[in-house]
Amino acid sequence: MAEKSIDIGIIFKCCLCLVILLWGWACQERGDILPAEKVFINGHVMTMDKNFAEVEAFAVDRGKFMVVGTTKEVIDACPDSEIIDLNGKTVMPGIIESHGHLLSLGQSFVELNVEGISTPQEVVKRVEERVKVMSPGEWIIGWGWDEGAWAKNYPSNKDLSAVSPENPVYLRGLHGFASWVNDRALQIAGITEETPDPAQGKVLRDYETGRPTGILTNEAQALVNSHFPPMSLQQTEKALQLAQDECLKHGLTTIHEAKTSAQMLEAFRSLKQRNELKCRIYVMLDVTDEALVKPFLQSGPEVDPNHMLTIRCLKVFVDGALGSRGAALLEPYSDVPEEQGVIVTSEEMLFEITTRALKSGLQVAVHAIGDRANRLTLAAFSRAIEEASDVKDHRLRVEHAQVVALEDIPRFGPLGLVLSMQPPHCTSDMSWAETRVGPERIKGAYAWRSFLDTGIHLTLNSDFPGETLNPFNGMYAALSRQSPDGKPEGGWYPDQCLERKEILEAYTVEAAYSGFEENIKGRILPGMLADFIVLSDDIFSIPPREFLSLKVEQTYVGGQLVYEKK
Ligand SMILES: [Zn+2]
Repeated sequence: MAEKSIDIGIIFKCCLCLVILLWGWACQERGDILPAEKVFINGHVMTMDKNFAEVEAFAVDRGKFMVVGTTKEVIDACPDSEIIDLNGKTVMPGIIESHGHLLSLGQSFVELNVEGISTPQEVVKRVEERVKVMSPGEWIIGWGWDEGAWAKNYPSNKDLSAVSPENPVYLRGLHGFASWVNDRALQIAGITEETPDPAQGKVLRDYETGRPTGILTNEAQALVNSHFPPMSLQQTEKALQLAQDECLKHGLTTIHEAKTSAQMLEAFRSLKQRNELKCRIYVMLDVTDEALVKPFLQSGPEVDPNHMLTIRCLKVFVDGALGSRGAALLEPYSDVPEEQGVIVTSEEMLFEITTRALKSGLQVAVHAIGDRANRLTLAAFSRAIEEASDVKDHRLRVEHAQVVALEDIPRFGPLGLVLSMQPPHCTSDMSWAETRVGPERIKGAYAWRSFLDTGIHLTLNSDFPGETLNPFNGMYAALSRQSPDGKPEGGWYPDQCLERKEILEAYTVEAAYSGFEENIKGRILPGMLADFIVLSDDIFSIPPREFLSLKVEQTYVGGQLVYEKK
């Protein structure tokens, strides 16, 4: 709900901030003394300003950076402040994770985690162990098997049903586009040979008997997961808190929550009210929940004057994922010619949603993975931009843009779109992506360099928990296009690699831009929010492979220490 009553408060605060800022600058000019809560000295501080200037020290007061400069300059400007010696450590702005899923991340700590397990037999063993500690009939919910890597030969539910005859089992794939369930779960959902496939999904069946095999793709997953006992508000809050702690540990100080339900929003609000929100949250509302979205379409965005919880974006899905062949392609999949992916939101619908959103001052972020989904998104966006031509700064976002027709790549920039891409998707998918799309279409796949060269705003992120939320793994992938074990030599389609500066900007300055926050976040400059991280090594000079062992030693949000490595 946009709170009209806070408008005057915001204006007042803005004026006050401006006065403080101007006064701060005026004092600096005159060499006067400034009161600051803390000064951080003797660091190797990357400001991420336009020239990538490095400084030694900065002062923090009331949640913001106040002065930056040499150690002497900062101490002279703020003499009576608490001094924290950085001992030569590298400091950079906090990472802005511009696309993640906090609730799924939090649930992954509660659920059965089978990520990284290489065979279905071993997963079945884990389920067998879990059955022993569950009550009869209780759901066993897990996640993390790789539906992309296992798509060639999906497991069946036979062994799962044998070890868990009483407890329904539901194992979500790593990327959320396929689930593997046992017989008990199929029974509860009433899924039989006769059950038709939903419009945008499939109940996979045995070729000979026609019986469901236990694999459900895309929307067919809802046939089963709609029978889960609902999470309480308290459980949701708990999961979000577990997730935010994990984020802070990895230096993520702002999260763009890429599909926020009504209950999640309620949980964010109550955490904020109790002062328990430690990461800053930028909300993308789940557009399929009309009741959730309606008030924002009527009253516009809710921009938090304290920048902890801002709601100004709608999340729309246009297709599925490449791994499960749900990504909508212009031509059939190269490895399964009868498949072409699924469109879940039509161009007309996307045009209408986007136009309404723009006229309400909201941003739209579209999940578009295949070349058909991306072309559809371009068409709907360009019509909506024309229809809402009063909106000069729309920053409509395309999430993923994973496989894009080469002739479409130059069309994104001139429309003023923001691109949000995931380097870890590239290095996770590279072993099978080319078999899905063939040697021609792969040239427009994970094509960060081609996009960036068109002058587009590009932000990079992880889309956790499908990929690790450790941003340095993503940076390594963007630098090298190699798996963590260094393969393939020289990188996979290495002309798409990015430069270190471009990558660091994409995780800070450009990520802030993608949420209309580039004037308050993403740089260490006077007046900006004091969100920063202290690193174990110098991210600006280490060789690419050392990104994989880089650690966050401390994380600060608004000048407060919120994580410290033990
Ligand atoms: Zn996502």
